[in-house]
Amino acid sequence: MKDEDLSPVICHPSLNNYHRLIERVDRHCQGIQKQFGELMDCRKGCCACCRHISVFPVEAAAMMDYIAKLPKKILACPDQYDEIRLTECPLLSEGECLIYPARPLICRTHGFPLLTVESDMPVISCCPQNFQKISPIPSQAVIDLEPLNRMLVAINALFLKEWTQNSWPTARIQLVDVIRSAYSNSIHETGKLPHDGDH
Ligand code: SF4
Ligand code: SF4
Repeated sequence: MKDEDLSPVICHPSLNNYHRLIERVDRHCQGIQKQFGELMDCRKGCCACCRHISVFPVEAAAMMDYIAKLPKKILACPDQYDEIRLTECPLLSEGECLIYPARPLICRTHGFPLLTVESDMPVISCCPQNFQKISPIPSQAVIDLEPLNRMLVAINALFLKEWTQNSWPTARIQLVDVIRSAYSNSIHETGKLPHDGDH
């Protein structure tokens, strides 16, 4: 994917805070990539990290905005997805992300060493294809997911409160339901988001 494909794609004012967050994350990731790119094997067509995930409603809204503008033939009809296929991301096609400019936040950190806390202990995880030739992993290359997640939770809560009057579901949304909803609703026209009873 070319750099210009990273240009902002989200324009609805309800998504401004989210948009600013992903711009910051992208800038941070690009800095790590610039410094440690030779230790990373991420490339077009490599997609083992693209699993079927769920996203926050504000992320779903941003993705729906983008998906709704795509020609419908680009994405398979969501009804064609079955439980077996859903181990991999339904937005993956021939090794490429169909919504790369609008991919959710966690996908923007794919491939980088990620710091999380498990049972009160810090844990750094990384794709086994990356940072193999260096030990320990340099701290400047590590992305601390906790503050990112906190910001995303806050932005999501504000989005739900200010733009939906808390009428949208608060639970995380599976990507296949994001696609279903993008096809069946325009969020700007109906204010609807996908949830279990919506398909
Ligand atoms: S949204 Fe795109 S980058 Fe994220 S898992 Fe799916 S195909 Fe991969
Ligand atoms: S994180 Fe791993 S699987 Fe994903 S693109 Fe990078 S090298 Fe490939």
